[in-house]
Amino acid sequence: MTKEKDKKISLLLEDISFLESYIHDLFVFSPLPICFINPLNIILEANPAFEKIANFAFGEIIGETIEKLFDKEEIKKLIQDTLEQGFVEGREIKFFPKKKESIFCQVFTRNRTGEESETTGCFLAVFDLTKIKKPEEELKKAEIALLNILEDVKEARKKSEEEKNKTLAIINNFTDGLLVFNAENKLSFINSTAEGFFNLKTRDVKNKSALELVEDPNLGPLIDFVGKEIQGVFRKEMVLKNNLILEVSTISMTGEEKNLGNLIILHDITREKLVERIKTEFVSLAAHQLRTPLSAIKWTLKMLLDGDLGEINKEQREFIEKTYVSNERMISLINDLLDVTRIEEGRYVYRPVLTDLEPVVQSAFDFFQDEVKKRKLKMEFKKPENKLPKVMIDVEKIGLVIQNLIENAVKYSSPEGQITISLKGNRKEIECSVTDNGVGIPKDQQERVFTKFFRGVNVRRMDTEGSGLGLFITKNIVEAHGGRIWFKSEEKKETTFFFTIPAQKEKKRN
Ligand code: ADP
Repeated sequence: MTKEKDKKISLLLEDISFLESYIHDLFVFSPLPICFINPLNIILEANPAFEKIANFAFGEIIGETIEKLFDKEEIKKLIQDTLEQGFVEGREIKFFPKKKESIFCQVFTRNRTGEESETTGCFLAVFDLTKIKKPEEELKKAEIALLNILEDVKEARKKSEEEKNKTLAIINNFTDGLLVFNAENKLSFINSTAEGFFNLKTRDVKNKSALELVEDPNLGPLIDFVGKEIQGVFRKEMVLKNNLILEVSTISMTGEEKNLGNLIILHDITREKLVERIKTEFVSLAAHQLRTPLSAIKWTLKMLLDGDLGEINKEQREFIEKTYVSNERMISLINDLLDVTRIEEGRYVYRPVLTDLEPVVQSAFDFFQDEVKKRKLKMEFKKPENKLPKVMIDVEKIGLVIQNLIENAVKYSSPEGQITISLKGNRKEIECSVTDNGVGIPKDQQERVFTKFFRGVNVRRMDTEGSGLGLFITKNIVEAHGGRIWFKSEEKKETTFFFTIPAQKEKKRN
């Protein structure tokens, strides 16, 4: 009997040992990190998966407190709940492996009770959530980034809206009138200054096409003025009925080679025009007033020189001659000033006749022969090879043009210089040019040559006589004849002035 009992006990012990090794293998094999902790929170056992996740070497973790691996408060609460409930399932908690970054995990616990139902500790299994949490976190980050971008876009939109409003406020309060026609030639914008100029309201004209607006009593004159097909760039003066003078500029707006429409800028020049007119009137009045006494002086000096007022000696003659020349210069200046005022007031009268240009040039050429000889210059007139067509000109005025150009060539020539006048043409126009190899016009001053009172710095230094009005008058005369005037000049080398006059078509004889 005892033998049988012993055998049974030995079999039982064998079973228990087998079970123990089975449980141990299972524990070691389990990929889920598991440990067993006693009631004092000391780790009594841990499988390799637990050691790995906790970053401990083999066997090193035994005897460590579990609190080291978790947030103190969180783990206390977890163990408390395990004690009370017997287990905790899948609580999310932060795990702190040794010398590594924390990881997010889910923890499962189960109480272990002894034979007398006293707690002997608990199992604790850890489920790594990093792989699940990371994409979640990244998603969250992306979400935050997206929200930030949206916020930025909102901010940028707000800013651009503010900028737009600021620009609109500036444009609206601009002292110049502004109108914008879009690519379809419809009025897309008009500022308040322009509204005031034309006495209208935006709502009455906005989005109307230029063709419709021509009919508008207020805006019609402007559209008529700039053309129904508003295009390109130009600047012109326009007079409105209430004595308002506007300088109208149109600018075509292009963006990335696309036509965006046209901008019309209206600048009020009424005041400038008034001041200009008053100035012209003053000059005209002064010149007229001066002309009479200067004529009187001229005739008195002439009488003295002619001996009509008695004999004068050589010295007296020299003085009177000098005074006569100075007086002549004054008269010429006054005449130039009067011509300028007539041009500016539109009172410069032309009496055109159909004639040949060659004799007019010849006469000016002859007029300067004495002066040319005196200055030891050479002057040549290159006549056209064929007979040129006739021109419709005011002979006196075109004579003045040629005289003026030759006079300048003579005045601004170096001693022994060469002057060449040439005349050529075709059926369309006749071109006259005057070339000299004198002082020339400095490059940086060339664009002002045809403006009133312009005199080059180099000629001012030379102490030559001149008013700076000749070329202004010349240009106006040429342009009034439908011609063009221009020049080429290199300082201290050569200057050529050219002008053209349109040729008159020969009438066919039957
Ligand atoms: P001015 O009475 O001074 O000659 P113009 O109007 O005829 O007035 O000419 C204006 C200026 O242009 C001159 O003062 C001079 O500086 C320059 N100019 C004109 N023609 C010539 C030229 N042939 N050579 C050099 N400079 C010239």
